[in-house]
Amino acid sequence: MYQTTYHRPATLDEAIKLGSNDEAKYLSGGQTLIPTMKQRLASPESLVDLSGLSELQGIRADGGSLSIGAGMTHADVASSAQVREMIPALADLAGGIGDPHVRNMGTLGGSVANNDPSADYPAAVLALNATIYTNKREISADSFFNGLFETVLEEGEIITRISFPVPSKANYQKFDSPASRYALVGVFAARTDGNCRVAVTGAGNDGVFRMEAAEGALSASWSADSVGKNRPDPDDMIVDLHGTGEYRAHLVNVLAKRAVTAA
Ligand SMILES: Cc1cc2nc3c(=O)[nH]c(=O)nc-3n(C[C@H](O)[C@H](O)[C@H](O)COP(=O)(O)OP(=O)(O)OC[C@H]3O[C@@H](n4cnc5c(N)ncnc54)[C@H](O)[C@@H]3O)c2cc1C
Repeated sequence: MYQTTYHRPATLDEAIKLGSNDEAKYLSGGQTLIPTMKQRLASPESLVDLSGLSELQGIRADGGSLSIGAGMTHADVASSAQVREMIPALADLAGGIGDPHVRNMGTLGGSVANNDPSADYPAAVLALNATIYTNKREISADSFFNGLFETVLEEGEIITRISFPVPSKANYQKFDSPASRYALVGVFAARTDGNCRVAVTGAGNDGVFRMEAAEGALSASWSADSVGKNRPDPDDMIVDLHGTGEYRAHLVNVLAKRAVTAA
C-alpha cells in the first residue's frame, strides 16, 4: 500500500500549482496512468485530475486549422460533426482506439503526452504537422516526440490543446492487435497545401516516425505507385511476439499504399 492524495482543481492555474511538485502526476482519462499505478510501475504522491478544467475542453475551427482541447475524449473526437467534416480521417482514427470504455475515458492530451509507441494519435499529430499548445509554449509536431514514451514536455507542463491544419486528403490505416486494439502498425498519410507527410506508429524502435523517403514522390504525384517499394529498415522495427521486424516493415509499405489510395 502507498498513500496518494487526489486533487481535482477547478482552474488551469490551480492545476499547474499542484502539479509543480516533482512527486505529482497529472491524471486525465486514467487509461494508462491507473493501470501503471496498479502494477506499481508508478506511485505518485499526488494525482492532479485535469478532467474538470474548462481550459482543456472544446473543438473549434481556427482559420485553416481544427483546434481540439487536450481534455476531449476519443469518443468526443470520433462523434464530433466538426471533426468529421473538417478532418474525417481524425474522427475515424479516434473511433478505432481501444474499446468503448477506453474511448469514453481516454483523452487526446493524455495519449499524446504518454507517447506510447503503438498509440494512434501521435501518427496523426506528425502527419498533419500539428501544433501542440501547452500552458507555457507552442511546440511543432516534428520537435515534440522524443522516443519511446518520451516527449519534450517538461515537469509540470500541461498540454492544453492541439491544432491540426486541415488537409486536402488524409487517411489512417491501422493493422491492430485483436486483443488490445493497439496498432501493430498504423500509417497516417496526409496532403496539406501540396505537401505530403506520412507518419508511422506501432512499428519503430524509437516510436512514431515519418516515412520521408516516400513523401517527396507523393508530393509530386499522390498515388500508391509513388510509395513504390519504400519501406523502413526491418532492423529499426519493433520485434515482439506479434511480429518480426521484416513483417512490420512490409506492413508499413502495404498500409502506406492503402492510406494513399483511400484518401
Ligand atoms: C485496453 C486498452 C486499450 C487501448 N487501446 C488503444 C488503442 O487502440 N490506441 C491508442 O492510441 N491507445 C489505446 N489505449 C490507450 C488510451 O488511448 C489512453 O487513453 C491514452 O494512452 C492515455 O490517455 P488518458 O487520457 O487516459 O491519460 P492518463 O492515463 O490519465 O495519463 C497518461 C499520461 O499522460 C499525462 N497526461 C495526461 N493528460 C495530460 C495533459 N493534458 N498534459 C500533459 N500530460 C498529461 C499523465 O500524467 C500520464 O503520465 C488503450 C488503453 C487501454 C487500457
